[in-house]
Amino acid sequence: MMGHRGQGFKDLYAKIQPKLQALFHTRQQVFLSTSSAWGVMEGALRNLVAKKVLCCMNGAFSDKWLDVSRRCGKAAEALQVDWGSPIRAEALDAKLTTGQFDALTLIHNETSTGVMSPIGELAALKKKYPDVMFIVDSVSSFSAIKLPFDELGLDVLLTGSQKAFALPPGMALFACSPAALAKAAKQADRGYYFDFIEFQKNSEGSMTPSTPTIGHVYALESKLEDIFNEGLEARFARHLRLAQKTRDWAAKHGFGLFPEPGFESVSLTCVSNGARAGGRVIDVPKFQKLVKDRGFLIDGGYGKIKGTTFRISNMGDETDATMDQLYAAMDESLKAL
Ligand SMILES: *Cc1c(COP(=O)(O)O)cnc(C)c1O
Repeated sequence: MMGHRGQGFKDLYAKIQPKLQALFHTRQQVFLSTSSAWGVMEGALRNLVAKKVLCCMNGAFSDKWLDVSRRCGKAAEALQVDWGSPIRAEALDAKLTTGQFDALTLIHNETSTGVMSPIGELAALKKKYPDVMFIVDSVSSFSAIKLPFDELGLDVLLTGSQKAFALPPGMALFACSPAALAKAAKQADRGYYFDFIEFQKNSEGSMTPSTPTIGHVYALESKLEDIFNEGLEARFARHLRLAQKTRDWAAKHGFGLFPEPGFESVSLTCVSNGARAGGRVIDVPKFQKLVKDRGFLIDGGYGKIKGTTFRISNMGDETDATMDQLYAAMDESLKAL
């Protein structure tokens, strides 16, 4: 281990910055937070909400952001759509046009429902509402699909180490627009641990505000090498191809998908187990156990759609070979039900 104020750490931090910036498609610094993603999600509220935040909600993680906003003492309102549906620009525009909001929270890839919202059409509204802070969680889609931070014009884009990065949990990564940092600088009650201005100041010296999870930074250095050796386009294509293969597996076995057609995630598939009309219905906990007995983990559905859906991840390091093994285990498990 090494000291986090010494040259060794600063060199490591500075070395990975260009790759992180390439991955975020940004000229801004990419900050490293020793926390899970929720730390930065809560931090974004404390740094950027002065008036009222609009929480775009279409699943368990995005719904929770409303609760978290209120727990932080922020005035907050929901833009709630049905689980399984994406957030659409028209609905967002109708809320923002009221002029009540100075920030919004959006989850690009709702991990609980396997729905990916159309980030391009949503981010395009930033031009119409330049004073609204666009805070976007890409925890389960970041690095699986292109998310060009600067080009989209977002204010905060955040992710965690344990989803598509396929690293252990415990670190979050995020970028802030210059406008977000300027707004944060004027905001009282930012706290300390997630003060974006502390991240900015320390990052200028290739450091973090407090002692970082240095082990993760080494792991990230190695992961970034893997990512750029594969190539970003190849990585994105691999995620799309494997998600499609999983959707095909579901169709072949008579299952529907939970997401509204056209908005399926590229990093995980939420299979409908009777949650939508006309599909096959199985005993999900039993199926999950049979799959587990064969050495693989799938998820039995999240929150209120537990059992009426199940989720299959293809994010991170999965390949055609590893996914084929999983499909074979699921085929056997279905037969054994
Ligand atoms: C997993 C996840 C989170 C929560 O991340 P933590 O690392 O547990 O804080 C937030 N948002 C989304 C979309 C997620 O998938």
